[in-house]
Amino acid sequence: MTLFDELLEANARFAENFPGTELTAVPSRHITILTCMDARIDNFAAFGLEVGDAHILRNAGGRVTDDVIRSLVLSNDILGTRYVAVIHHTECGLVGTTNEAIRDAIAVARRVDLSAIDFDPFEDVDQSVRDDLVRLEAAPLLRDDITYAGFAYDVANGVMRAVQSLLEPVAGTISAPSVSGLRNDAYIEEFRANDGKLGGNFSGVPVLLLHSTDAALGETRVTPLTCQSLESGWAIFASNGGSVAEPGWYGDLLVDPVVTIEFGAETIEGRARVAMGAERDQIWTRQKALIPAFAGYAQVANRTIPVLVIEPC
Ligand code: ZN
Repeated sequence: MTLFDELLEANARFAENFPGTELTAVPSRHITILTCMDARIDNFAAFGLEVGDAHILRNAGGRVTDDVIRSLVLSNDILGTRYVAVIHHTECGLVGTTNEAIRDAIAVARRVDLSAIDFDPFEDVDQSVRDDLVRLEAAPLLRDDITYAGFAYDVANGVMRAVQSLLEPVAGTISAPSVSGLRNDAYIEEFRANDGKLGGNFSGVPVLLLHSTDAALGETRVTPLTCQSLESGWAIFASNGGSVAEPGWYGDLLVDPVVTIEFGAETIEGRARVAMGAERDQIWTRQKALIPAFAGYAQVANRTIPVLVIEPC
């Protein structure tokens, strides 16, 4: 009996007991996991996921390649995933080697020219995870409202460790896309633990937590945002940290302007509207005076930054 015969026999038993499925192609946890092909990693078990919960993309090393981008566009745009986890691991075959060493090793066994293949080897697992998060953030074809996070998996003990991004937050905004997902969670935690105040780059900067409804998913999105206090409420700015793309929450508010905000220790129901004309100019001019980085965002983004007013209702 060949290996394939064994596999087919196993499948016959599997199919006999197959309970049927109500799952759809849309991953129910809205997450895509990019990880190494290493045979020791059980992604579902390691994260407590079930079949139907997640897309799993695997290649040598779990590296971000053109083909990973291709799959992510489909995963995000067609099948609604909004979280991407990059997992690299200890004892990876690509750690501590080089393209030359890999090519030489294979060339000894068989005569083949591998000079056109970049095997994407790396020195340090945490650094390779960060490098791939940067690749994702820089990929122009990917959506701007994806939350990315990186992890290092220890094959010896099963521990999945979060790898912090090396990227520092841009002063004056916390609405930057992509890698900021990891940071946003930390900001939200800090905000709630300190009656709405943040330290570091955001010390003294007024901040609110915006709860908006992601129309595509029907889920609530919580975004920490720099704000400006107005007599009637608060102004927020769809600067996206100077990204050419508008932030996901802005699209949410255009579809459904009913929001909840957390400001200080309070939670307030409100309604958002886009400020126009003289009102917008006045708020925007004041914001650039309060936090000069905002002038830079408009310049880098090369678009008019939408200003929204939230009023309690
Ligand atoms: Zn590996």
